[in-house]
Amino acid sequence: MKQGVIFPGSFDPVTRGHLDIIARACSVFDRVIVSVLNNSEKKTLFSIEERLIFLKLCTKHLKGLEIDHYNGLLIHYAKFKKVKTIIRGLRTINDLEHELVMAKINKDLSKNSIETIFFTASTKYQHISSRLVKEILKLNGNIKTIVPKEIFDTIKKQLTKCSIDTY
Ligand code: ADP
Repeated sequence: MKQGVIFPGSFDPVTRGHLDIIARACSVFDRVIVSVLNNSEKKTLFSIEERLIFLKLCTKHLKGLEIDHYNGLLIHYAKFKKVKTIIRGLRTINDLEHELVMAKINKDLSKNSIETIFFTASTKYQHISSRLVKEILKLNGNIKTIVPKEIFDTIKKQLTKCSIDTY
């Protein structure tokens, strides 16, 4: 049977750091599902539709990849997708603290049937986060080196519509 994994996240928006993890996961696992959390209570800059489009645009070249979305408990979604492994990225010690808690909760709630595997961030992307992208955008800075090249123009267009200027 194909070994499937889910890479869940907000991806608001997807960054070069996320894309690096996605590509590396595709080189290790047969089936990778990148799933965007669609939580109406969490305020996001980009809508669920936009976040999915951004992900699809920058992952066209990757095989065995599925882009999806979910809400509710991740372990319920994983069961629905018949997947037992979650992957997450680790940038710094700050990520580790939060991620260890989430991994433990998911393991316990799933009665030990779900494991979390961590990919350490590549050094050149370690500093990148969606939050950083949003902060730079707010200050009219250039996000060209932080977001995947395939989505830079689309992000620019989307934000011009909402009258946020970008370079
Ligand atoms: P969440 O809101 O679930 O943390 P994010 O979209 O911020 O969603 O992140 C999704 C996953 O991607 C997390 O595991 C996060 O640690 C990882 N990640 C984010 N940025 C990077 C990066 N630059 N390098 C490696 N992993 C990253």
